[in-house]
Amino acid sequence: MAHAAAASSCRSAPPEAAHPVALDLLAWYDRHRRSLPWRAKPGEKPDPYRVWLSEIMLQQTTVAAVKPYYERFLERFPTVASLARAPTEEVMQAWAGLGYYARARNLHSCAQAVTERNGGVFPSTEAELRTLPGIGAYTAAAIAAIAFDEPAAAVDGNVERVITRLFAIEEPLPAAKPAIRALVEPLVPRDRPGDFAQAIMDLGATICTPRRPACALCPWMQPCRARATGLQETFPRKLEKVQNPLRRGAAFVVIRSDDTVLLRTRPPKGLLGGMAEPPTSAWEIDYDPAQAILDAPLEARWQRKPGVVRHVFTHFPLELTVLTARISARTEAPEGMRWVARRDLANEALPGVMRKVLAHGLGELSPWKTSKTPPRQGASG
Ligand code: SF4
Repeated sequence: MAHAAAASSCRSAPPEAAHPVALDLLAWYDRHRRSLPWRAKPGEKPDPYRVWLSEIMLQQTTVAAVKPYYERFLERFPTVASLARAPTEEVMQAWAGLGYYARARNLHSCAQAVTERNGGVFPSTEAELRTLPGIGAYTAAAIAAIAFDEPAAAVDGNVERVITRLFAIEEPLPAAKPAIRALVEPLVPRDRPGDFAQAIMDLGATICTPRRPACALCPWMQPCRARATGLQETFPRKLEKVQNPLRRGAAFVVIRSDDTVLLRTRPPKGLLGGMAEPPTSAWEIDYDPAQAILDAPLEARWQRKPGVVRHVFTHFPLELTVLTARISARTEAPEGMRWVARRDLANEALPGVMRKVLAHGLGELSPWKTSKTPPRQGASG
């Protein structure tokens, strides 16, 4: 029934003979599968801890960005029990730079739940996995399929793109999600569901890409309705995004003569919760950078750095003006702030945007590379 409802949202139902089948995709996967550090090799049993860790890291982040974090994380926390035992600050520090920090807090809570409730053994069903912190519908299905070979339909952005093209789904996202799921479910094979989940992810990542999909190499070229009309790049249909207004603010980089830098910790909940940062003003739509000095955390001879630090969060873009000051080693930290040795900055749980602020403010003294162009980052924090 669900399948029929989903098909009704397509331009017209694909002819019976040209329906995509899992076997074609699996045959392609056997030849072209990506080799990824968290992926079990053919014949190997997947490790649920590695599958879970990679799936959480890959949410909203690219494979290339995740690889070094994944490897370092695994070295530091080789088992779910070692991750559960680690202090929160250590987990946040290992995650710093990967963005979307609520994921790191949930990751830690999830490791603790798996260790306390199940003695370090991950549950194998989609329904049980969903009860764990930070595991939503997609992640539960992906872990169930990949780690435990459960016939679960894992539908992420890549899969949505492939399916909307295959069936030329006119309904825009996100409204089309139930229809997409209803089309994926009957495609999942009883045999090798884990490989199917990874195959469709690989197809979306390497062949059915957002721009210029390589349709000539696609195992589902024949049944693909969008390709037949030459309109593949126009799928998935999306509603026009409402542009959130730019917020502005000021960040204050203070260096003391004993080579320490002023930092504070953000409140545990909310944006960049629990992460470290140099003090900043509020971030507001009508913030006036000319008045930034009024928000400075202490009295000093403030100098405004040319350029700004830009960053795009999921819900709004941000532009920070950076003010710097050098002060005496006798200056005490304002309430709720602390002095951190410059050489130890790289060990602090600083999100990407705040590393850029410090790099911009400290210039040559920064532990991170600076660029001549004012930094601009992706949405990862
Ligand atoms: S034929 Fe092209 S558009 Fe259709 S699924 Fe394959 S790569 Fe995507």
